Amino acid sequence: MAEARKTQKRLRFSNADTAQPAQGSVEVQALFDSIGDGVIMTDEFGRIVRINPPALAILGFKEEELIGQWFPKVIVSLDEQGKPVGLIDRPISRSFLTGKSISEKLLYRRKDGQPVSVAITVSPMMVRNRPVGAIQVFRDITLEQEVDRMKSEFISLASHQLRTPLSAIKTYSHMLVDGFMGPLEPPQKKALRTIIGASNRMNELISTLLNITRMESGSIAVTPKYVNLGRLLDEIHDELTHVATNKDINFKLIQPTDNVATRTDPLILKEIISNLVMNALKYTPNEGNVDLMLSIKGGSALIKVKDTGLGIPKLSHDQVFTKFFRAPNVIKRETTGTGLGLYLVRGLTEVLGGKIWFESEENKGTTFYFSLAAQRIPRKVKM
Ligand code: ADP
Repeated sequence: MAEARKTQKRLRFSNADTAQPAQGSVEVQALFDSIGDGVIMTDEFGRIVRINPPALAILGFKEEELIGQWFPKVIVSLDEQGKPVGLIDRPISRSFLTGKSISEKLLYRRKDGQPVSVAITVSPMMVRNRPVGAIQVFRDITLEQEVDRMKSEFISLASHQLRTPLSAIKTYSHMLVDGFMGPLEPPQKKALRTIIGASNRMNELISTLLNITRMESGSIAVTPKYVNLGRLLDEIHDELTHVATNKDINFKLIQPTDNVATRTDPLILKEIISNLVMNALKYTPNEGNVDLMLSIKGGSALIKVKDTGLGIPKLSHDQVFTKFFRAPNVIKRETTGTGLGLYLVRGLTEVLGGKIWFESEENKGTTFYFSLAAQRIPRKVKM
């Protein structure tokens, strides 16, 4: 409460009910009114001084009901439970405090009480380094969100449907290659192994797509358990050693003598770390090194996946966790990627409340870091 009052003071927001509309030429007014998105301009006290027709249409108000009113009071932002968002958390407040533009998707309450989904960008208007007001541009994204939801539903349905025929392909290919249906010649076995490899990749892709749709719709089920991190990394190391061996990569697991324990969902954590290790092995040429390391400092565990591979070009660093991104230096060399792995990894990391970041230099190597709250358990304590 005290914090909110302090913020209100710093913002120079006041709930005064009179405000002078900003003066401007007819052209400026015409420009403002003809912008296709909703635009609201406030003065330095947060009072609405201008609002254009699309903004009125989205919110369902008349102009005279808003002009001169204190923005946070009349334009109410709602959280997912339908409760009003506090002043301190409103983008307009944060924009005033930081002096930066803020873009977000949120819910506004229309005059008739109904919520409307909007994408907004609010920016402070600065004159000689002093905020003299704010400008907010926004648009109704209800339709976009509905299309997104339908798209996710379609991907999820299609992926489920693909699984059934795929498992038949895998089962029968395995039976054939293992000689259950009579002996085979080496070229026939080779062809079947290619089929098995391709269907395994397709299976992984389907899992990734399903996980992404679950993540995007916020429906990933998290089942926290007590997890011995060293043991989990051991499992990952064992499962992926054959990939390293095939490429003559020196794949080491380095962990502290004490145990490191945390409460988290082991399956989700395994998905995250396996993805990082698979990338390290994929983007490291033959005879390189990949280290999987665990350490604990303070109350947090740090898992490092370090490789001596292709690296990520500096120009691409900002895009690494975005959907479908593949860096230009790997596209030609390694054709089997989708650019979905790290997007999923980042979303899953958020679900677990962890942090993820990386350092990389092209042609030298990459290190991904993952941290999560954890505790050290002396080795002699049985886990
Ligand atoms: P994919 O590997 O399927 O292309 P990811 O989402 O897992 O997709 O990774 C996105 C991109 O990030 C990769 O295409 C690659 O350019 C880069 N990348 C990820 N990990 C590494 C790594 N260990 N070394 C070099 N580049 C990497």
